[in-house]
Amino acid sequence: MELKYDVIVIGGGPVGGYLSRRFNEFGHSVLIIEEHDEIGRPFQCAGLVNPESMEKVNLQNSILKEIWGARIHSPSGIPVVIGNKNRIRTMSVCRKIFDESVVLQAVKSGTEILLSSKPNSVKIEEDRVKITIQTPEGIKNIESKLLCGADGAHSWVRRFFKMGRPREMMIGFQVEVTGYKGDEGRLDMYTGRDIAPGYFAWAIPSGDTTRIGTWSRADLLNGFSCEDLINRLRNKDLWKDRFENITEVGRYVGPVPSGFVRKPMIERVALFGDAAGVCKPTTGGGIGPGFKQVDLLVPVLSKSINDNDLSEYKMKKYSKLLKSMISDQKRKKGLRDAFLTESNDDELNQIFSVWSRPEVIELINEVGEIENPIPLGIRMLKEIPEFRKLAGKAAKALIWG
Ligand SMILES: Cc1cc2nc3c(=O)[nH]c(=O)nc-3n(C[C@H](O)[C@H](O)[C@H](O)COP(=O)(O)OP(=O)(O)OC[C@H]3O[C@@H](n4cnc5c(N)ncnc54)[C@H](O)[C@@H]3O)c2cc1C
Repeated sequence: MELKYDVIVIGGGPVGGYLSRRFNEFGHSVLIIEEHDEIGRPFQCAGLVNPESMEKVNLQNSILKEIWGARIHSPSGIPVVIGNKNRIRTMSVCRKIFDESVVLQAVKSGTEILLSSKPNSVKIEEDRVKITIQTPEGIKNIESKLLCGADGAHSWVRRFFKMGRPREMMIGFQVEVTGYKGDEGRLDMYTGRDIAPGYFAWAIPSGDTTRIGTWSRADLLNGFSCEDLINRLRNKDLWKDRFENITEVGRYVGPVPSGFVRKPMIERVALFGDAAGVCKPTTGGGIGPGFKQVDLLVPVLSKSINDNDLSEYKMKKYSKLLKSMISDQKRKKGLRDAFLTESNDDELNQIFSVWSRPEVIELINEVGEIENPIPLGIRMLKEIPEFRKLAGKAAKALIWG
C-alpha cells in the first residue's frame, strides 16, 4: 500500500469539498479523488445558494445576485408577486468559483486531492478499505478507514456497493442568456404542462446574465425534450416579450436526484449529497441539504474513525440520524405533489387565483420559506377553504412522511 488516510472522498463537488473540510476540522486526514482535471466543471446548476448554506462557507466572492422576491406564474398567466426587499431569500452564485472555493477551503485545512483520477475497485476489510485508483501516473493503491461517495447523481460508489437508487430522478435543462427582461432582485417561475410538466420553469438573475431553465421527469415529458419545453416557454404569447432580446451564452443539462437511497451507509462506506439522493423535491436544490447531511453525520463518524469502528451495525445506527431529513423530504414531496405535480393546468390556475389574493400573498410573505415550505403549506391547507380538498392529497405525506 502506498498511501493511507482516515477518509477518502470520491468526488470534488461542493458536498465533497465541504465534507472534507469538516473532517479536517475534526482532526482527520482526507484525500479527495476527482475524475475531472479541474474543480467546478462541467457545471449543471441554477446556482441558487440559501443564506444558511452560504454562512457555512462564507463565500461572498461567488455571489452574482442577491434575490429577495419572486414572480410566479400560473399556466394561464396569473402572476403571484412575492418578497420584500429587506429580506434576502437566496443568492445566485458562480458555481465555478463556489465549487473551487469550497474545495480550496478543504485543501487549506489539510485535504489532499488527486485530479483526473477515479476509483477502479474497492475492497472492504475488517479494519480498513482498500481502493485501487486510476490516476494519470497509473494505478495507485490507497487505504482508508472510511470511504465517502460524494460523486454526484450517478455515483460510482453507490452503484459499486448496490446501495439503492434515488427515488425520483428529474432532468434539468438550462440556458444562460443575456437580454432577458426580468424584475430587479426577483426570480421568475413559470408553470404549465407545456413548459414544465409537473414542475416549473425558472428565470434566475445571475449578474450580467439570466439562467433560464426547466425541470421535469422523463415519464411526464410525453416524448418531448427539455429543450422543446424551453422553446415553448420563450415563445408563449403571455410573456414572449421578456425573451425577445435574449442571446444564449451557455447551456447545461443534468439530473436532479431526490429521495434518499435505501442504504446511504454500509460498513465503512457512506454516501453524501446527490449520490445519496438529498435534493429537495420542491426546488431541486442539493447544496443546502448536502451541507446539512454533512453537519449531521461528521461528528458521529469522526468518533467512529477514532475508534476505527465503522461496522455495519454502527453505520446502520448512524443512518437513523438521517430519519428527520428523510421525513422532511417526503413531506415536501407530498406538498409538491398536491399543489403542483398532480394538478392539471386548470387546477393550477385555480390555485394561483387563490394565491394571488392579497391576504394569501401576505401569508406567503410572512411564513413562506424557499428552504422549508412545510409551515406555509400546512397553514394554507388549514386556513384557506379552497385548499381543503388538496389537504386529502397532501395529508398522507404530511402526517406519515
Ligand atoms: C439544471 C439544474 C439546476 C440546479 N440548480 C440548483 C440550485 O439552484 N441550487 C442547488 O442547491 N442545487 C441545484 N441543482 C442541484 C445541484 O447541482 C447538486 O445538488 C449539487 O451539485 C450536488 O453537489 P454534489 O457535490 O453532491 O455533487 P456534484 O456537484 O455532482 O459533484 C460530484 C463530483 O464528483 C465527481 N465524480 C463523479 N463521479 C466520479 C468518479 N467515479 N470518480 C471521481 N470523481 C467523480 C464529479 O466530477 C463532480 O465533481 C441543480 C441541478 C441541475 C441539473
